[in-house]
Amino acid sequence: MDTIKLAELLFPQIDKEPSCFENLYPVRNLPAGAKVTRIGPSPTGFVHLGNLYNAIIGERLAHQSDGVFFLRIEDTDAKREVAGAVELLLSSMDYFGIRFDEGATIDGDSGNYGPYRQRQRKEVYQTFAKELVRRGLAYPCFCTEERLTQMRETQMAGKDNFGYYGKWALCRDLTLDEIEAKIANGEEYVLRFRSSGDINNTVELVDGIRGTLKLQENYQDFVLLKSDGIPTYHFAHVIDDHLMRTTHVVRGEEWLSTAPIHAQLFDTFGWTRPLFCHTTVLMKMDGDTKRKLSKRKDPELGLNYYRQEGYVPEAVWEYLMTLLNSNYEEWRAENPDAPLDDFVFTTEKMGISGALFDMMKFDNVSQETLLRMSASEIYEKMAAWLKEYDPAFEALFTRDRAFTERIISVGRDGARPRKDLTNWKQARQFLSFYFDETFVREDEYPENVSPEDRAEILKRYLKTYDHSDDNSQWFQKVRDIAGDMNYAIKPKDYKKNPELYKGSITDVSNVIRVAVVGRTNSPDLWEICHIIGEDAMRNRIEQAKN
Ligand code: GLU
Repeated sequence: MDTIKLAELLFPQIDKEPSCFENLYPVRNLPAGAKVTRIGPSPTGFVHLGNLYNAIIGERLAHQSDGVFFLRIEDTDAKREVAGAVELLLSSMDYFGIRFDEGATIDGDSGNYGPYRQRQRKEVYQTFAKELVRRGLAYPCFCTEERLTQMRETQMAGKDNFGYYGKWALCRDLTLDEIEAKIANGEEYVLRFRSSGDINNTVELVDGIRGTLKLQENYQDFVLLKSDGIPTYHFAHVIDDHLMRTTHVVRGEEWLSTAPIHAQLFDTFGWTRPLFCHTTVLMKMDGDTKRKLSKRKDPELGLNYYRQEGYVPEAVWEYLMTLLNSNYEEWRAENPDAPLDDFVFTTEKMGISGALFDMMKFDNVSQETLLRMSASEIYEKMAAWLKEYDPAFEALFTRDRAFTERIISVGRDGARPRKDLTNWKQARQFLSFYFDETFVREDEYPENVSPEDRAEILKRYLKTYDHSDDNSQWFQKVRDIAGDMNYAIKPKDYKKNPELYKGSITDVSNVIRVAVVGRTNSPDLWEICHIIGEDAMRNRIEQAKN
């Protein structure tokens, strides 16, 4: 077969040589050890936690080594693409503080290794595809869907391995005349790789996370270019990561099974393989079983969820870091106030069995993260979130900054600070009682206090209340009310001899608490009375008495 002729027949429009692109995208001039990483998301309109997970790894590896981290849009599958998906991706990454040095941006591309959107690189791929045809390593395949389906059925019936290989590779040995005739006839074709791999062979693949792996060699004549001349993921990934001079390919473990295809292509071109880093899937506990996070069932898989709920990006980073590196939690415990950048992230410390994403733990990390922020920082971030998601509350929240910072600060000092705030949506709910406009009585009054006693407690409370009392004077008065009305002053006395009392001091203070705060669980009541002020407090109690 005259493969030079075949290459011209298939790619008459391609007049460049591979060397042209090798020169256009030279080896990067970076310090020794600098890593070049990327994420290559597809613009499907759904940005998930896995995208961020891999982005954090890539970002850390690159920026810890004075390397380069870039964004490539893998848009070769036009059927899956939705309008606005790239913008959504960019804004999600931006929200989470992922900074790219190069790549696709809102208004085009930035960097010398672009274009960074695969559909715009058609000429690049076809130049290398043409080269493979010339070398006799790629051929056009005219098999229709029906023919492939039929082949699959025959393979199934005969218990043969599925796929396009060996004797099943029907178009492998078409003659040039046959190919010419089919093309003249307008028949569609894809371009396949002519694999010389053997089903019984293994290849060694070094994985940055998993170590050296032995995988089955690729023996399939996989597709390089689809019938519209657009590459498959396999081909595009190899060409791009070579020409963009990627040193570390961080991607999900779903690509591990086809990694031998990629290794084979790198080897065929004589290029150095990047270090593959196949990350684990994110799992969750569902009852007693561990399963993959699912797009359909688990809203927490979507990145947008964290934004809508108002989780701070710092908390998401913080939690993902604990999942990513087994020594991170220990480091954080030793360095509670250090910036995350100080932590030395390594792929060797990454786990290889599914990372468990636990919402309760994440909430806890979020609370801790918010505790590390100043009231003024919280004020600003929460105000920005409210502006987008709850403008009515934002108006109240920003009415008096000093007041708002004060309510944010309640219970945050001291050895055991309260962890009242988890995310902005929850914080909006939590803080609502401080404002008359949003105050509602959410909880019931204690059930062992009769309506008459409740009215009596509140009446006495108002009567003895003195705004200049300090916390302990104030509490002494609550105690007196309890004692006078036969509620045990010590809860444990009531526990021991319930028949002797109507209840305990807890019931009495909860009556006041529900009247003033609307809840049985709240920060220090004396402090709340002082923040909302005597008038507001008295008003709420007057209303509660009726
Ligand atoms: N486009 C691929 C995906 O969205 C990216 C895989 C890679 O990073 O190489 O899964």
